[in-house]
Amino acid sequence: MDYQWVFAEITRAIRPVLAGGRTADYIPALAQTDPKHFGFAVADLTSHVQGTGDWEIPFSIQSVSKVFTLALVLAADGDRLWTLVGKEPSGAPFNSLYHLQRSGGIPRNPFVNAGALIITDRLQTLTGDASGTLRDFLRTETDNPDIDFDARIAESEQRHGHRNAALAHLLADYGRLDNPVDTVLDHYTRQCSLTMSCRDLVLAASFLARHGLRASHSRLLNRSEAKRINAVMLVGGTYDTAGDFAHRVGLPAKSGVGGGIIAVIPGRCILAAWGPAIDRYGNSLAGVTALDVFTTHTGLSIF
Ligand code: GLU
Repeated sequence: MDYQWVFAEITRAIRPVLAGGRTADYIPALAQTDPKHFGFAVADLTSHVQGTGDWEIPFSIQSVSKVFTLALVLAADGDRLWTLVGKEPSGAPFNSLYHLQRSGGIPRNPFVNAGALIITDRLQTLTGDASGTLRDFLRTETDNPDIDFDARIAESEQRHGHRNAALAHLLADYGRLDNPVDTVLDHYTRQCSLTMSCRDLVLAASFLARHGLRASHSRLLNRSEAKRINAVMLVGGTYDTAGDFAHRVGLPAKSGVGGGIIAVIPGRCILAAWGPAIDRYGNSLAGVTALDVFTTHTGLSIF
């Protein structure tokens, strides 16, 4: 299928949106990104990619990384993973301490920061190098050896990441981490600092559209595990506005405060959008608009 016609619709629709929103400034190095960037890409099940705008420019993937660490841990641990983290919508900001305490140290889902810290901790236990394992996986899936951490962004987040440090200490206090707090925070911050383009993201995440099969067609997840990740993305992948996102776009998705969003049409294709200006919840304004236009104009969604 040729998507150029819908890319033209998207480009028209995002133009007014690019003027609004702000780049994430609680990680100072992220605030320096030009908010006028916009990229969009689609990959089909054979890894054929089409894109528009800045779709080949790498950016900080931030919380989009949480989908990949989740998949790697699920592949190793199977359903046991779901005893460590919940599968409920966030219902609160992604870095809420209050919700973690109220639930007795079981994070709402693997995408809120507390849940992602537990997943990173588990990946560290399984591999001895959580962020390195993730980077190698992404390089393999995309056939792009240039995917790497951005040391400046990781350092900027480490220096200002008091809230994540507080979450990690609270998790440790509940006995939920196997590894030292500093080790977990270090790997978590590095995984978030990975830079990838929309092209890279659609290739790396395409196992979710292939019901668990990697780019090489070897199996990463079984069909029901891939379904479970997509389901949790639908209810919790776009912060505490997942309902509004599902209403507008109708797809499982995961966003990050770097302005990236991936979305999945199982059995068909995978989409990635990037626009660095985000709304107050953390979702890219242009990215959500673009995905809304894509599903509305093509009629493709899971509903
Ligand atoms: N590294 C960011 C943080 O932990 C990721 C946030 C996000 O993209 O949701 O605050």
